[in-house]
Amino acid sequence: MLLRMQPDATPSQTACVRAHLEAIGYETVALGYLGAGVFAALPAEETAEAMPEGAPWAALQRACPEAEAVARLEAEGNFALGQRARRPGGTRVRVGGTEIGGDAVVVVAGPCSVESREQVLATALAVREAGAQMLRGGAYKPRTSTYDFQGLGRTGLKLLAEAGARAGLPVVTEVMSAEDAELVAEHADLLQVGARNMQNFPLLKRLGRLGRPVLLKRAPSATLTEWLAAAEYMLARGNDQVVLCERGIRGFDGYTRNTLDVAAVAAVKELSHLPVLADPSHGTGRRSLVGAGARAAIAAGADGVCLEVHVRPEESVSDREQALGPGELARIVAELGAVSSAVGRRLG
Ligand code: PEP
Ligand code: MN
Repeated sequence: MLLRMQPDATPSQTACVRAHLEAIGYETVALGYLGAGVFAALPAEETAEAMPEGAPWAALQRACPEAEAVARLEAEGNFALGQRARRPGGTRVRVGGTEIGGDAVVVVAGPCSVESREQVLATALAVREAGAQMLRGGAYKPRTSTYDFQGLGRTGLKLLAEAGARAGLPVVTEVMSAEDAELVAEHADLLQVGARNMQNFPLLKRLGRLGRPVLLKRAPSATLTEWLAAAEYMLARGNDQVVLCERGIRGFDGYTRNTLDVAAVAAVKELSHLPVLADPSHGTGRRSLVGAGARAAIAAGADGVCLEVHVRPEESVSDREQALGPGELARIVAELGAVSSAVGRRLG
């Protein structure tokens, strides 16, 4: 439930409404990014009784008769806070010195996995040289096979942060569980929720409370509503620094690893005020197709792309088939510059 206090409501009236909601099993969160007096009332995680839809407002009116005079119920829906109408001009997400969602289109590049100090540092310097604004690299890897390399974990986080600092680039890396959120946040500027964890609700709740920028990838079979509803978990907990990322959905043709849903990029830009990136590396799974996917996504309105790049692509420990070399990245960045100008934007 979303509530907006009347402009003349006093702080004690606001406190009264919130206290009553808390007494009936709700957590209340002030949504500072929407200005004063707007808050979300979210069902607490442990509660004595099940609360049917609509019941909390009725219970609040019973417990606090003045509620109706001082607070207004806002329309809900799965993505009430994420909808475009809330911020027609769009949200800008600040990551280190870079902004996502402004006029400039951003290029996030780096290895699928952090493999060694030498590999991540050499790749970081190469992607900066090729024109990227942000460094990516996985330390906690969600692998299809349990027998495959699972990432360097804490060591990987440290190496990534060190490489980012050396190259002067902010870093993005995946966080797979709620317990790891603080640790990953100590080392990364942008916290990635991978496709497989798009609906890991305990993780989304933790990241909502943490308030650090999040990159939320779309699950391979998620509808747009499910994807935006997942983002809403963070928006409703006070964190509006959320970037969406289309990374390909499950298709029927195995030639491409996934089907990069370019229309979804345009659709979520229309539906939501959140910035949107595209990941044509996982979206196509083929080195030769990554550039085409990236150009298409920028033409469709994406605010940037995430590209997997390895200083020696043929040696990549994970996702070798889609890894670009530094030279290929430089060529793609040049093409993206042209596409960005064609759609009235600029690169970087
Ligand atoms: C990744 O970006 O490293 C990754 C694992 O991607 P996804 O979650 O989209 O599969
Ligand atoms: Mn990968």
